[in-house]
Amino acid sequence: MRKKLYRLDRAGLSSLFDVLKQEGYLVYGPTLCDHAIQWLPLSSLDDLPAGWTTSTAPATYRLLRDSAGSLFHYWTGPDSLKKVLHPARACITHAERDNGSFRIWNETPQPVKRAFFGTRACDLAAVTALDRVLLQDRFEDDIYKANRAAAFFVAVHCTSSAPTCFCASTGTGPQARSCFDIALHERSPQEYLAEPGSASGSAALEKLAAPLAPPEWAKELAESCTHAAAAQQRRIDLNTAPVVISLNFDHPRWDHVAKRCLSCGNCTSVCPTCFCVNFEDHTSLDLQQAERLRLWDSCFSQNFTYIHGGSIRLSPKSRYRHWLSHKLARWQEQFGTSGCVGCGRCIAWCPAGIDITEEIAALQTTTHAAAMTGVSNHGN
Ligand code: SF4
Ligand code: SF4
Repeated sequence: MRKKLYRLDRAGLSSLFDVLKQEGYLVYGPTLCDHAIQWLPLSSLDDLPAGWTTSTAPATYRLLRDSAGSLFHYWTGPDSLKKVLHPARACITHAERDNGSFRIWNETPQPVKRAFFGTRACDLAAVTALDRVLLQDRFEDDIYKANRAAAFFVAVHCTSSAPTCFCASTGTGPQARSCFDIALHERSPQEYLAEPGSASGSAALEKLAAPLAPPEWAKELAESCTHAAAAQQRRIDLNTAPVVISLNFDHPRWDHVAKRCLSCGNCTSVCPTCFCVNFEDHTSLDLQQAERLRLWDSCFSQNFTYIHGGSIRLSPKSRYRHWLSHKLARWQEQFGTSGCVGCGRCIAWCPAGIDITEEIAALQTTTHAAAMTGVSNHGN
């Protein structure tokens, strides 16, 4: 049976927001904050950045006015759903002195019903990637599990692409195809196509008593997304990347990028799939209380690989090489999926303008023929 597709006007969209609130969801969405679009709780759809768009390029992110007044005519900002589902700072254990003794207890993560209004296809792919790492590997992350269990996703398809986007080549966009409860297509600021992606999404849309959308709207959406994909200038060949990386451990391009890389870790902070954490113990000044915190870490920090006697990756070259290799090759070996969803955040938010697509292309361009010869020789 064909899925029902609904036609929502602006009032219908607000009703969807109200239904989610009535069902107990804390609704998050893109909002204007600190000169960027960030994910924050919404009090109403009026908090969405209507009439704003963004401009991105290597080391560049700008907010611009958009005369069309669209609610969703902007692309990924500095944060992602990772900020909420896999928070940068979480207390996992408390300790306090207690009448000459002390007691220790663990924080038990509590599920919070959160709806994310306006997620993009690449960010849904990033959630699927985090699921693989934090829920479906050897250990379950109980904080992520609690946050993820109660999450509801209202996706918005991308019908145009930013210059830094390359989700078409990673197969993760621009059209949202999975992991959503409802997907929206903003045809205009007053008219939306709404598609359910789960039973709870269907139930929420049924409550709106909205009219069905004309069948041709789905075809128009597919054509717009195809056009957005074709317009993307950047790309990564994920099929050849693991071989190219494996055969180029000593390529001079790593020295080239190391001269520019500041080891600031911005790329790992903004990346929606980077998941590494560290632990710190903090003690109060009166020595009565202590807590163990889990904090985001970055493979760009020297201490990230500290083991007894010192760090393993001492140079920026080794750290950048590790990061790119993990994203585009080692993830595939570890988790059976790419660690990059083509969102382009690391390109826009790298202060040195280092571009992951350019770096892998440099390796591919100079060594592709030799790499393929090497692969076929191995087979002889
Ligand atoms: S590596 Fe860069 S482009 Fe890929 S998912 Fe992370 S931030 Fe996005
Ligand atoms: S690649 Fe860019 S964002 Fe990442 S650590 Fe180096 S300078 Fe910072």
